[in-house]
Amino acid sequence: MAENVKVIVRCRPMNRKEIELNCKCAVKIQNCVVETWDPNEGPSFPKQFTFDSTYDQDSNTEIIYNEICYPLVESVLEGYNATIFVYGQTGCGKSYTMEGTKTDNGREKGVISRAFEHIFEAISVTSGVKYLALVSYLEIYNEQIRDLLLPTDKLATTSNLNLKETPNEGVTVPGLTSHPVHNAAECENFLNTGSKNRMIGATLMNQNSSRSHSIFTISIEQISNMNNDESIRKGKLNLVDLAGSERQAKTGAIGDRLKEATKINLSLSALGNVISALVDGKAKHIPYRDSKLTRLLQDSLGGNTKTLMIACISPSSRDYIETLSTLRYANRAK
Ligand code: ADP
Repeated sequence: MAENVKVIVRCRPMNRKEIELNCKCAVKIQNCVVETWDPNEGPSFPKQFTFDSTYDQDSNTEIIYNEICYPLVESVLEGYNATIFVYGQTGCGKSYTMEGTKTDNGREKGVISRAFEHIFEAISVTSGVKYLALVSYLEIYNEQIRDLLLPTDKLATTSNLNLKETPNEGVTVPGLTSHPVHNAAECENFLNTGSKNRMIGATLMNQNSSRSHSIFTISIEQISNMNNDESIRKGKLNLVDLAGSERQAKTGAIGDRLKEATKINLSLSALGNVISALVDGKAKHIPYRDSKLTRLLQDSLGGNTKTLMIACISPSSRDYIETLSTLRYANRAK
C-alpha cells in the first residue's frame, strides 16, 4: 500500500525581497532528507525529516514530472484513479509547481499542463480504442462545494452543492458540471476559466482563495473492441490545490474568519489522517467521512489508486515556523 502513496518536498529559491533583506537560509536538502532549524539555535540543532524524494531550489518541474508524476499519469491511462496534492505556505511555489509560470526565456510549464499533454499524446498514438475524456473543477470553501466551471453570472448564486453517496456510484456531486475535452488546449481553457472563476467568486463573496481547496478532475473512459468483446476502462486524475498551510494564529483570525480557519483545518487534518492511515497499512478504519475533501476523494485515495503529495517550502529563516509545520504535516502523511 505504502508505495502507492508518495510524499515529496520542493524548496523554492530565495526571492528578491529575502535576498535584499539578507535573510538566512534555514533549510538543507540532501538526498531524501530535509533539515530545518530554529534560527535562534542554528544549523547545529536541525530537525530532520525523510521523504520519498526531495527537490532543492535548483530543481525544475520537468524533473519532478518525469521522476514522480509520469508513472502516476500512466496508471490513470491504465484505468486507475490517482491524486496529486500540493500543500504548503502561500508563496512557496504551489502554483509555480502545478500551473507553471512565465519566465524571461519562455515558460516553465507546470505539472498540470504536462499531465494534459501526456494524456492526449498517449491517446493520439493508440488505435482501436474510443476515448471519452471529461473535466470538472470544483472548490471547497468553508466545507461548502462550488462548481468553478459555471458561467460567471451563476457563480455567486449557486454556491453550495451537496454530496451524495450511493452503493453503485460511490460519492458524487449531483449538479456538478462536467465537460468533454479532446486535447490539452481545451483542458487548459477549462482550467484557466475555473481558476479565474475561483478568484472572481472569492472576491464577490469577500473570501480569500488561498483559504479554499480546489479539485480539477480529468476522467478518461476507454472503450475497446477486441474480437467483438467490448471492454471499458475508466481512470481519473485529481489535481488538488490545498489551502495555504499558514497557521491561523499568526493572522490573528477571530469570529467568522476563525470559524473558517477551523473548517479549512478540518479538511486538511482529515486528509492528513486519511493518508497517514493508508500509509500505515494496518489501520482497519480509514476516516474518509470526516471532511468534504476526503469524502470527495474517497475513490481516489487508497486501494489501487496512486497518491502524491508535493509539499512546497521556503528556504528563508523568516519562514522557519511555517516550514516546520509543513514538513511535520507532510511527514505524517508519509
Ligand atoms: P503559492 O502558489 O504557494 O502561493 P507561488 O507558486 O505563487 O506560491 O510562488 C510565489 C513566487 O515564488 C512566485 O513569484 C513564483 O514564481 C516563485 N517561485 C515559486 N517556486 C519557485 C521555484 N521553484 N523556482 C523559481 N521561482 C519560484
